[in-house]
Amino acid sequence: MIYFAPMSIKKIGILGGGQLGRMLLQAAANYPVETFVMEKDAHSPAAHLCHHFTKGDITNFDDVYNFGKHLDAITIEIENVNDEALEKLELEGIKIYPTPAALKIIKNKILQKQFYKENEIPSSAFLITQNLAELNNLQHFLPAVHKLAMGGYDGRGVQILKTKEDLAKGFDAPSILEKMVVIKKEIAVIIAVSSAGEHAMYPAVDMVFDQRLNLLEYQLSPAAIPEKVLWKIEAIATKLVKNLNSPGIFAVEFFVDKDDNVFVNETAPRVHNSGHHTIEGNYSSQFDMLWRVMLGYPLGCTEAILPAAIVNLLGAEGFTGKACYEGLQEIMKLENVFIHIYGKKETKPGRKMGHITILSNEKQELIHQANRIKNTLKVVAYTP
Ligand code: ADP
Repeated sequence: MIYFAPMSIKKIGILGGGQLGRMLLQAAANYPVETFVMEKDAHSPAAHLCHHFTKGDITNFDDVYNFGKHLDAITIEIENVNDEALEKLELEGIKIYPTPAALKIIKNKILQKQFYKENEIPSSAFLITQNLAELNNLQHFLPAVHKLAMGGYDGRGVQILKTKEDLAKGFDAPSILEKMVVIKKEIAVIIAVSSAGEHAMYPAVDMVFDQRLNLLEYQLSPAAIPEKVLWKIEAIATKLVKNLNSPGIFAVEFFVDKDDNVFVNETAPRVHNSGHHTIEGNYSSQFDMLWRVMLGYPLGCTEAILPAAIVNLLGAEGFTGKACYEGLQEIMKLENVFIHIYGKKETKPGRKMGHITILSNEKQELIHQANRIKNTLKVVAYTP
């Protein structure tokens, strides 16, 4: 008879307790892992799904160090964490996904753009500005996009500058001024990297924007792009993660221009909104995949079971307060639709409150249902 040694249970921590942490914990329940979360807000979406919750500041050295020193591994759900503490923990033998070195490059847009340039990864031309006075001398570089080096997210920290008058809207802090790309499409790919350096890439995702409101309408996967463009995207994403030299999950966002040139917009070294459909749509989801990477298991299968769309559920304009999901019952009757409510008690305009995944072999059906959901489901504030 063959006896197997009991599996050792790894202790793995997540810095940040939002929806990404929550979905990561949902996937963790399948594996022998003891989960830890650190976050300021004890009522955050991930707080009740982990084995151990620590109230703490993920940007504070001592909090991150003390949280991590007894763990086997740590991952992040947001880039804005104390990377010095992660560097010390790494030196002490704790595995960090992504490595602090990769995280440091990505979390600062100046270093990120320099990394693309040094590694010959196509990305739009840029200049560095330290303050508004420097920006004011760069009128010749317009039209361009000014981006804060640190701390921007979801479009905050990005200003489009077309004319001389727009220069005043720029940031008075270290930033990059990036040449404006005339965008035909925005595409994202998620790629997993194991500790042994193996890669697995998910089918590309089309991020479809409402041109008028400049808001993400929905995401579709696989993306409708010519094979040649997809090849470019796949080659660039592979080179990018190879040169970052870190295990983990990476989301690479691209712009495709009218001549089908491809530019990297930015990279996230973590699970990402553009991969949420992989929970139902693909054999191994991005969340399942990250546990496979961290637990040293074989990488999962990234293939799609069915094409998918995602609609983000954002807090409606004009409503702040206790969240209420208008139209939910109607949407839940649709058979190819999957609801994810993140458990945030308070809604406010634009806040990510959940997402809906739609699966179908028919692209028209995906688009039709996405629009139906957008027109039916609203997150408003409850008024008794
Ligand atoms: P964030 O990380 O805050 O979402 P991004 O860098 O992705 O910021 O920029 C937000 C949006 O601004 C992009 O999705 C794109 O529509 C637009 N944008 C950013 N950079 C450029 C660029 N160089 N040219 C044209 N549009 C851009």
